[in-house]
Amino acid sequence: MTVFLVGAGPGDAELLTVRAARLLAVADVIVHDRLVEGSVLELARRGAELIDVGKEPGRFTSQSMINDLLVSLGRRYEIVVRLKGGDPFVFGRGGEEMIALSDAGVASEVVPGVTSAFAGPLAAGIPVTHRGLSRGVTVVTGHLESHDDGYFRRLANPDLTLVVLMGVSARSSIAAQLIDGGLSSETPVAVIESAWTARESVTRAVLRDLGALNVSSPAIIVIGPCAALSVRELMAETSALV
Ligand code: SAH
Repeated sequence: MTVFLVGAGPGDAELLTVRAARLLAVADVIVHDRLVEGSVLELARRGAELIDVGKEPGRFTSQSMINDLLVSLGRRYEIVVRLKGGDPFVFGRGGEEMIALSDAGVASEVVPGVTSAFAGPLAAGIPVTHRGLSRGVTVVTGHLESHDDGYFRRLANPDLTLVVLMGVSARSSIAAQLIDGGLSSETPVAVIESAWTARESVTRAVLRDLGALNVSSPAIIVIGPCAALSVRELMAETSALV
């Protein structure tokens, strides 16, 4: 009778919160997206129903269909987990689903997750802020509809790190707009594909070359002086120990 909107983190099941892991172990039904890794779903209780709303074309084509599904499951089951990649409230439509549940009188709760906006760069050894290099970080969607109006031109700021989610298909236009807005074409760029999964891959370049990079979604694009950093080699190899 409660729908839990749970962040699954960027990929690796080790990066779940304790609360997320505990809820997965007791949920009656888990409604998940395409981005959620198999290793996370393995934590589900044996016998739990798993519903993939990202991969079944035709069945859950719109957000309103997902909202309706959550409402009906929430009325039927004790513990429903709505599992989302990263954090449910970072481009995850978690807010929309909560409002729909509340409108239907179904109780809900949110469990935050480690967002790919920060954990993605970290996978490449990139700190999104660094004293002397970046005063802050701007997280934006690169989805086409959001920047038809020259939006990225206004985001050109050499003092900030720009982290773009869902930006792969529009990467040429993003780079062109940022350069047009005054950002140097030599600004460091990094693209982290499938961070924290077995398919992880990191590509580094400068802004001028972003459009020509051979990269695919899901990926995080990092733009700014911090994108040239890599503290990864400074990290201890602790995974063998714990
Ligand atoms: N709520 C999620 C974001 C959902 S939007 C979060 O907080 O991370 C989907 C976008 O997130 C993808 O297009 C991609 O840009 C990014 N993304 C999510 N997981 C990722 C991963 N493991 N590696 C790289 N990018 C990822």
